[in-house]
Amino acid sequence: MSFKIDPYLNVDAGTMNPYQHGEVFVLDDGSEVDLDLGNYERFLDVNLTGDHNITTGKVYRAVIEKERRGDYLGKTVQIIPHITDEIKAQLRGVGEKEGADIVLVEVGGTVGDIEGMPFLEAVRQLGQEIGKENVFFVHTTLVPIMGAVGEQKTKPTQQSVRELRSMGIQPSVIVARGEHSLEPDIKKKIAFFCDVPVEGVISAPDASTIYDVPLLFDGQGLTEYIMKTLQLKPKAEDMREWKEYLEKLKNPEKEVTIALVGKYTHLKDSYISHIEAFHHAGAHARVRVNLRWVESLDIEKHGTKALEGSDGILVPGGFGDRGIEGKIAATRYAAENDIPFQGVCLGFQLATVGFAREVLHLKDANSSEFSPKTPHPVIDLLPEQRSVKGMGATMRLGAHEIDLEPDSMTAKLYGSTKIFERHRHRYEINPAYIPKLEDAGLRYVGRSDAGRRMEVLELKGHPYFVASQFHPELRSRPLRPSPIHLGLVRAAAS
Ligand code: GLN
Repeated sequence: MSFKIDPYLNVDAGTMNPYQHGEVFVLDDGSEVDLDLGNYERFLDVNLTGDHNITTGKVYRAVIEKERRGDYLGKTVQIIPHITDEIKAQLRGVGEKEGADIVLVEVGGTVGDIEGMPFLEAVRQLGQEIGKENVFFVHTTLVPIMGAVGEQKTKPTQQSVRELRSMGIQPSVIVARGEHSLEPDIKKKIAFFCDVPVEGVISAPDASTIYDVPLLFDGQGLTEYIMKTLQLKPKAEDMREWKEYLEKLKNPEKEVTIALVGKYTHLKDSYISHIEAFHHAGAHARVRVNLRWVESLDIEKHGTKALEGSDGILVPGGFGDRGIEGKIAATRYAAENDIPFQGVCLGFQLATVGFAREVLHLKDANSSEFSPKTPHPVIDLLPEQRSVKGMGATMRLGAHEIDLEPDSMTAKLYGSTKIFERHRHRYEINPAYIPKLEDAGLRYVGRSDAGRRMEVLELKGHPYFVASQFHPELRSRPLRPSPIHLGLVRAAAS
């Protein structure tokens, strides 16, 4: 099992701005975490919990709560040992609870950062407690290329390894990031100066896809080296399925362009799970998916021109009213021109708003998130949320069960009428408008909470118009793509 440590002071990623940090990833248990946890889930094919993301804020909060309760019996509470003990206890606790064979801990940041020090000290101590033969430190460094001759420079690596060793941590492996593979001489030089065997110096050159990286490392003998050092016996598992996946990803038979209409389009990390879901779906369908990034404000200013020629359209989730009219226009453009369409969360809500305005002629229909006084709040807080006066509605988070109509396209895509998907929203389709919307051809084929909440819509008579309140991209895996993304890619390719 794996941990991500983020040395920032935020307790979790729930309030973090996607402009700065990229997407907020949501786990089954509803924890809002760093997007790296998404990479761990995708690469290891596991479902993590909030316990797997540790931040400085979370550790300090736990220690301060204990101090307030008097747990420290009046002692002076200090970074060492109290903060470091708390870090170790969290790492050990989860590892033991889950009966993990191996606990993988990523300490984010850069060696030398003040914020990272307590964490490095904690893992150093942990290493000493569990014995040198049971720990394996992997240090990632940058090997820049300088000058006209393209010389690979090892100085930054030497410096950061020195810094790390001064804190008592001797790396077992140095992973050297750079544009190209390390020259054999450079590998030897790093090994010599940093006191690691040559087999412990691993090149991490730019890869054509991140899914290549495990094989790139394996090819340099890293797996064997880890097994030998930690005295592990290999399991009978091979990389066959992973290799097949890569083979399909790299050899598509067709190509499609899908327009992603968003408002954080200049920071691609804001949509990383969609990007990955399209890699998974694309490999499965043997289609290369080219994403066209369309700013919703651009549609507001210049109309739907930027969508022309795209084979499919995705309107993803979002918060706040900036750019929503552009997104609504995109849903209408897809509906009216029979262009395969997928809406997610806000995209699902806005597809409903657009339909209510155009087809039900409710000109001022809107979400009460954006227009609190609209006469037609087709998207609204559910009644129990509305009654939480002054408190602000709470976010509905995490995985919930959804029932699908057996005759729906979505049930066919999932191959099931009961699904489990992750959520992060406050607003919902207002049930009062469902009869009218459905009579006019917008079917709500997925529901949850005994039918009270709308989860999936399909537009009758359209080749592919599927939108969901949940985020199918969050549970998409290389070998099990999100069925709705896969449906979009297939429809766009046909
Ligand atoms: N802003 C909307 C809500 O709160 C949609 C959220 C989202 O797209 N993640 O319901």
